[in-house]
Amino acid sequence: MTRHVAIVGAGPSGCFLAQALLKARPDLAVDLIDRLPVPYGLVRYGVAADHQGTKAIARQFARLFERQGARFHGNVEIGRDVPLAALREAYDAVVLASGLSGDRTPDLAGLPLAGVHGAGALTRALYDHPDAGPLPDLGAHPLILGNGNVALDILRLLAKTPDELDGSDLGPRATRWLADSGIETITIVGRSPAAQARFDPVMVRELGALQGVSITVEAAPPGADDAGEKVLAALAQIDGTATGPRRIAFRFGLTPTGVVGEGGRIVALTVTRPDGVAETLPCTALVTAIGFRGDGTLPTDEGPGLYKAGWFARGPRGTIPENRADAQALALRILADLDADPDAPAKPGAAVLDRCRDRVDYDGWSRIDAAELAAAPANRCRQKLDTRAAMLALACRTEETQP
Ligand SMILES: Cc1cc2nc3c(=O)[nH]c(=O)nc-3n(C[C@H](O)[C@H](O)[C@H](O)COP(=O)(O)OP(=O)(O)OC[C@H]3O[C@@H](n4cnc5c(N)ncnc54)[C@H](O)[C@@H]3O)c2cc1C
Repeated sequence: MTRHVAIVGAGPSGCFLAQALLKARPDLAVDLIDRLPVPYGLVRYGVAADHQGTKAIARQFARLFERQGARFHGNVEIGRDVPLAALREAYDAVVLASGLSGDRTPDLAGLPLAGVHGAGALTRALYDHPDAGPLPDLGAHPLILGNGNVALDILRLLAKTPDELDGSDLGPRATRWLADSGIETITIVGRSPAAQARFDPVMVRELGALQGVSITVEAAPPGADDAGEKVLAALAQIDGTATGPRRIAFRFGLTPTGVVGEGGRIVALTVTRPDGVAETLPCTALVTAIGFRGDGTLPTDEGPGLYKAGWFARGPRGTIPENRADAQALALRILADLDADPDAPAKPGAAVLDRCRDRVDYDGWSRIDAAELAAAPANRCRQKLDTRAAMLALACRTEETQP
């Protein structure tokens, strides 16, 4: 009897889990269901457009569908198109690997205000996510709040010259938006001291190679652990970089207290310095990169035959490879539970998805993929389709109707 596993979310954690399950038990029917018509989650819509090496993991994930027998069901949102209860009825095991799509918002006096943007919303707009809002006006002096790699990604993209984006998959709209941004200064503000910033030192050093920037790093007190020492060393290395006019300032140890608005739009962030002194940081926009949260549509507790994986299980921490070890441990747990119940009644599996109109299978995604690669201009590696309608027009075209 075939046992059926549904994985909700075809991001890295869902893909790593499917890999581990099918490696151990090639006889399983493993279905990866995603609300988008395209797979790979944040690999496509979070990882920076100029970090194509990181995105290359998608080629490994493709083998899952091409060689290991996993099936992709795109454009199906669990909780909207198919109730979770119906999915659980139809599958022996259901895994929620649906990530965390909401931005954590800071609890600051004076919010909400126009000009304050979450990092997730901004990156989705930059990377042509079909559900993203328009790219916002950041003005000449945006401020980034956050001490992690997402904050660094945004800083780097905002700071790059147009030529430095060659080879990326940044779309024409975002390319024009960056070229016309008029950004003069970018201040990146962290609550913790520099030694506790969760920056990847490699990504810090990458800033030192930019061609149009002047970087200053606020003096950081010594006395960090090993990881902290590496971050401090990287920051010290880029401090004083002077290759161009766009000024980048790193500030640390500032506790945000509120925002100041004029005419409904942010004009400053107020902070308290480590010495207790209040300071007002003028800005034309605030990008908050302080973490992510779920949208509340799927339950956060596991139950019989119901499991959680990846960021949905762990919170918004950890790189793509870190989801792999978790997925392997979870695969063992699921397989043990399946084996413990060998006489379970046969389940229908993917038939429960048949009611979904415009479902995208792996061949459909492959047509989108091929079209995006073919449409790439000379200085880009891909040009993404940016609307569901355009994706579905390609993906749901059957062989017979193709010219
Ligand atoms: C801006 C940003 C940049 C990053 N850059 C890097 C980097 O350079 N290198 C690195 O190693 N890590 C990076 N990370 C971290 C990395 O992206 C995560 O570790 C990883 O994506 C988590 O995988 P996941 O599968 O849990 O979630 P996700 O990648 O978010 O995948 C979840 C999937 O579930 C789908 N989904 C959600 N709800 C439903 C539903 N109801 N029904 C069906 N499908 C649903 C979503 O469409 C999505 O495809 C970055 C993260 C962010 C936010």
